[in-house]
Amino acid sequence: MEVVKGNPYFCDCESKMKNYPYLNKNIDCDILIIGGGINGCIINQHLSKKKDVVLVEKGRLGFCCSSCATALLEYQLDDFAKDLKKDLKPTDVVKIYKMGLKSIQEIKQFVNKHGNHCEFSLKSSFVYTKSFFDISKFKKEYVFRKQNGFKVKFINKKNNPFPFKVKAGLFCENGGAEFNPYLFCKQLIESSSNQDKIFEHTEIDMLERKGEKIIAKTNYGNIISCNKVIISTGFDEKITPEKNLSEKFVSYTIVTNKIEGFSWFDKTLIQDFCDPYHYLRLLPDDRIIFGGEDSPYNLKKPINEKLAKKKYILLEKYLLKLFPVLKNKIKVEYKFCGLFGFTDNNLGVIGKSLNDDKILYFLSCGANGIINAMFGRHLIEDILENKKNELEPLFSPKRLL
Ligand SMILES: Cc1cc2nc3c(=O)[nH]c(=O)nc-3n(C[C@H](O)[C@H](O)[C@H](O)COP(=O)(O)OP(=O)(O)OC[C@H]3O[C@@H](n4cnc5c(N)ncnc54)[C@H](O)[C@@H]3O)c2cc1C
Repeated sequence: MEVVKGNPYFCDCESKMKNYPYLNKNIDCDILIIGGGINGCIINQHLSKKKDVVLVEKGRLGFCCSSCATALLEYQLDDFAKDLKKDLKPTDVVKIYKMGLKSIQEIKQFVNKHGNHCEFSLKSSFVYTKSFFDISKFKKEYVFRKQNGFKVKFINKKNNPFPFKVKAGLFCENGGAEFNPYLFCKQLIESSSNQDKIFEHTEIDMLERKGEKIIAKTNYGNIISCNKVIISTGFDEKITPEKNLSEKFVSYTIVTNKIEGFSWFDKTLIQDFCDPYHYLRLLPDDRIIFGGEDSPYNLKKPINEKLAKKKYILLEKYLLKLFPVLKNKIKVEYKFCGLFGFTDNNLGVIGKSLNDDKILYFLSCGANGIINAMFGRHLIEDILENKKNELEPLFSPKRLL
């Protein structure tokens, strides 16, 4: 299943991950993690400290959708609290927002401990609309956040610090963060405690229950026998017991040349409320990464090169509309796209498979998938240790099926 196309900017760096071997024998372990994107790397680093964990990746670690993430790390979800009310209670939204802020702090603690080799930086975030019809939605969300103790400023035409038109916006000072997702994966892998149990170019073709064990068969015919499996295969559902776990879209991204001397207010992470929506940030090397223009995806309609080309042109035009001063100054140097999954409540799919409780999903959905994964590692740990976690029902696969 093709989930990524183009030349992702984040993988094009000098500091590459070391190569891990492919698995060429049968092995046993307590927990098998399938998929070495950011989710697999996060859960592997977390669990390998305490448990006997094997991680297998069918290609290279950190090279799939994770290398396409624009890596805006934010606590807010794709929809505002009011729009989520049929799927989440307001008290749940507050818990999820708090979980998002805590996850950002946990990434900060990680880089404090292991060194900041992934360009991590706390940032302010801004979501805005240019449509008059959305103003009341923004006002309601502002009141919701304020009443629940979140630091947020309401932006309108008069106090807009950005050069583009804003009808309404929410500005959260230091309410977000950014990093290089590939380098973060690299740091997670390097600080994992199971270096001899990480395998690349090892695809799991089949999962089978045998008594109390799960048997995973690799593309080379080897067998991994384990007590529990964690599926972190992203949006590739080839081996998942349940299918159609999320509604899939393709999201497109361009990265410009280095534009010296150009910036915007506070180097804020910016997202709009258009349909299709757009998101952007400044990279540490003075480039702009600009994404969005999502289009629906289904298996019969894989990533379409022709459509992708059109989307890259649309993104460039849109960027110039936001910042007309960049006319004749920008050149698009990277273009790529990848799959994205959405669920009704904007949250990932984390929890036991309904077909086999020894199989756990660890899938992120929505625009803040990375934040989902940072929180999700605690949820997975609680499930493995049979501990109650009040957020479990919100992420459980049960809610979808
Ligand atoms: C364009 C774009 C922009 C985004 N921007 C943001 C953002 O700003 N902020 C944010 O938080 N999130 C963002 N996301 C979402 C984020 O990228 C995802 O939440 C995250 O990458 C999911 O990571 P993953 O590990 O689940 O998936 P992946 O990175 O796709 O990793 C899954 C891995 O599983 C492997 N695999 C699959 N099947 C098998 C198998 N059978 N055996 C072995 N290995 C297998 C694959 O090779 C792959 O490496 C964005 C996504 C896209 C596409």
